[in-house]
Amino acid sequence: MRQRMIRLPIYLAIVLFMANISPVIDSFLHPDIPYLDPEHLLVGGLTAGITALLLSLLISHANRMTSVAQELTRLNKTLREQTSRDSLTGLYNHRYFQEMLHHEFLLAQRHQTELSCMMLDLDLFKKVNDTCGHPFGDLVLKGTAEQILREARATDTVARYGGEEFAILLPNTDLEGATSIAERIRARAQEYTHQDKDIAMRVTISIGLASNRAHSTERPEELLAFADRALYRAKKAGRNKVIAYSEPAAAKGP
Ligand code: GH3
Ligand code: MG
Ligand code: MG
Repeated sequence: MRQRMIRLPIYLAIVLFMANISPVIDSFLHPDIPYLDPEHLLVGGLTAGITALLLSLLISHANRMTSVAQELTRLNKTLREQTSRDSLTGLYNHRYFQEMLHHEFLLAQRHQTELSCMMLDLDLFKKVNDTCGHPFGDLVLKGTAEQILREARATDTVARYGGEEFAILLPNTDLEGATSIAERIRARAQEYTHQDKDIAMRVTISIGLASNRAHSTERPEELLAFADRALYRAKKAGRNKVIAYSEPAAAKGP
């Protein structure tokens, strides 16, 4: 609509310009034609000049509108990028992870591909804060995010799911593949020393896993819940462990 409003006066200006410039051109081509008197030519020339000026103003206005629209598109993209990221670690945030979980789950369902989900939780992190202070805790969260990213692939969605919890979506990855990536993350965290001034500390991670096909999940929420239950079992099993979800044993009859 706005573009049509800009285009209309441009067309009008072109028509006016052509109508006015033609007698000027004619006067040069046919100087003997009597109706092209100097006064007529002067008025025609002036009108043509004003029309040309108007035309160029309109074109520059249209150009400015285009660059404003481009700038708005760029700002929109930046805003979307900022609202989908966690400010401390730079990883995707909880909201974006939920969006992607639904998106990837539907894609995997449609194309009948594997999708794995990983929930990660720092072990005894409260103690890190209590003994080394909250700023050091923040440093550990940032360092852990970097270590996780080193093992993740470009197609994975790595997010800070909550306080000291992370979540990863791994498209086209079966339970076996996800388990070996999780094991690499766990080992990397165990070996990495977080350091700030005179404080140095290692912090381990517990990881729970689930896969859409291995566990026949029907909804995205179910995939996430299964990974979360596996994480809970990893904590129960003594922490610093990778555990894949398994169906609870069927209740025994009398
Ligand atoms: P577990 O091994 O069972 O997971 O024990 P935990 O101590 O890690 O778990 P708990 O849930 O008791 O403690 C989580 C702590 O994470 C408590 C909270 O203060 C801390 N935390 C959450 N968000 C942040 C944050 O942004 N920065 C810092 N420094 N600490 C945070
Ligand atoms: Mg936790
Ligand atoms: Mg924890």
